[in-house]
Amino acid sequence: MFDDRTTCAVVVGAQWGDEGKGKLVDVLAERADFVVRYQGGANAGHTVVIGDAQFILRQIPSGILHPRVTCVVGNGVVIDAETLFGELDGLHERGIDTEGRLFVSDRAHLVLPYHKLLDAASEKSQAIGTTGRGIGPAYADKTGRRGIRVGDLRNLAATRLLLDDRIDRANSLLAMMGSSERASVEEHAALLGRLAPRLLAVAADTGLLVYRAVKARRRVLLEGAQGALLDLDHGTYPYVTSSNTTAGGASVGSGIGPTAIDGVLGVVKAYTTRVGNGPLPSAASPEEDERLRRLGGEFGAVTGRARRCGWFDATVVRYAARVNGLTELAVTKLDVLDTFESIPVCVAYELEGERCEEVPSEVERLERVRPIYETLPGWGASTASARTLADLPAAARAYLDRVERLADTPIRYVSVGTRRDQIIEV
Ligand code: GDP
Repeated sequence: MFDDRTTCAVVVGAQWGDEGKGKLVDVLAERADFVVRYQGGANAGHTVVIGDAQFILRQIPSGILHPRVTCVVGNGVVIDAETLFGELDGLHERGIDTEGRLFVSDRAHLVLPYHKLLDAASEKSQAIGTTGRGIGPAYADKTGRRGIRVGDLRNLAATRLLLDDRIDRANSLLAMMGSSERASVEEHAALLGRLAPRLLAVAADTGLLVYRAVKARRRVLLEGAQGALLDLDHGTYPYVTSSNTTAGGASVGSGIGPTAIDGVLGVVKAYTTRVGNGPLPSAASPEEDERLRRLGGEFGAVTGRARRCGWFDATVVRYAARVNGLTELAVTKLDVLDTFESIPVCVAYELEGERCEEVPSEVERLERVRPIYETLPGWGASTASARTLADLPAAARAYLDRVERLADTPIRYVSVGTRRDQIIEV
C-alpha cells in the first residue's frame, strides 16, 4: 500500500469487524498525509497500542496519533459530538496536538440523545446486538430525510424548529415501543447550543479537502469501520450495521468519486470472530471458542462484550474480496494460533446436501450451512518476534499460503502481536 501507483487507498474489515484495522491504519498512517473515516459512528472501537499507552478511538480517525497526518471525519459518518470531544480532550491530556488537523464534514449527521433512547427501545423488540449508541436510528433519520447535520448548527434558530418535530416523533415512537423514556426538546436544544461552537470550529466541506488532497497526489487513507459481513447491503442482514462498510462506501462517505481510489486492503484475522447476534458458520467448539477468546483477548473494545470465536472462513473472505474489490490482504493475530496443534480452515459450506462456495443471501440459509473443514498442522512456536516471512515456522508459512490461495488475494501484511512493530510486510 502506498507506492508509486497507490496514493488513495481504502482499508476495510473483511470479516465481521474487530479484525485489527486500527493497527493496520496506524501502521499505514505513518506514510499517509490524510486519514479519512467514511462510515459508522462511535460504535467502532479501534485500539492502537503505542509503547505502554493504549488508545481506544471511536469517533476520531486513529491517524490522529501521527503528528503529520490530517484527519477527516467524512460525511458518511454519524457524529456523536460528546464522544468526539471526550476523545479529543483525552488526546490533548496526553500531549497530542490536534490543532488544524482534524476536520468534520458539515454534511455528516448528528447522533443525538433521542437516537440512543430509540436504539435501546428497538433493541428490546428486535435484538440485533447493537452497541446501543444510537447509530441505527441516526442513519434511519438520515435516509428518512429528517436528520440533523453538523452544518445545521450554523443556524440554531432553524434547527430548534427541526428539533420540535424530531423529538415529537421520537417520543411517539418510544410510546409505541412501550418505552417509558421521553426525550426533551429543551435538553436537546441546550445540548446543541453547547456543542455548536466547538463543532463548527472543526466543520468543513471535507469532500473538497479530500478531493484536493487526491488531486495533489497526497497519500490518502480511507478507513473503514466494522467489516464486510456487517455491511447494510452485503452483510448478514438484518444482523448488520446501518451503513455501507465495504469499499464502495468509502467513495460515497468521503465525497470523492470511485476513480480516485487505487487500492483496497482487506484486513482479516487468522481466524474468525463475531460480536452481536447472527450466524457464524465456522464457530469453534465451546472449549476452542473459549481458548481463542482468551488467547486473542476477544472482548469488544467499546462494550467489553465477549466475541464469539471460530476458524478462518475462506467462503466469507472470498466473498469480502469480491464485494470490496480487494487488491491485497492483511492477516492479523497469527500469534493467537501459535499453540494450536492443528488448525481447521473452513474452505466451503455444505447446504442442503450440496457444496456451496458463496455466502447465501438469507441468514436463515446461512444458519443452516455446514462448514467443510480442511485441517492444517499447527506450528507450536511463537511468531511474535517474526519480522519477515522467513522468520516464521514453515507450518505458519504454509497456513498463510493456504489462506492466500483460498481468499484469492495476495497477502501484503501479517500481524503477529498488538505492538506497532509486530508486523511483517511481504
Ligand atoms: P478493529 O476495530 O478492526 O481495529 O479491531 P479492534 O481494535 O477492536 O481489535 C483488535 C484487537 O486486536 C486490539 O486489541 C488489538 O490491539 C489487537 N491486535 C491487533 N493485531 C493483533 C495481532 O496481530 N496479534 C494480537 N495478539 N493482537 C492484535
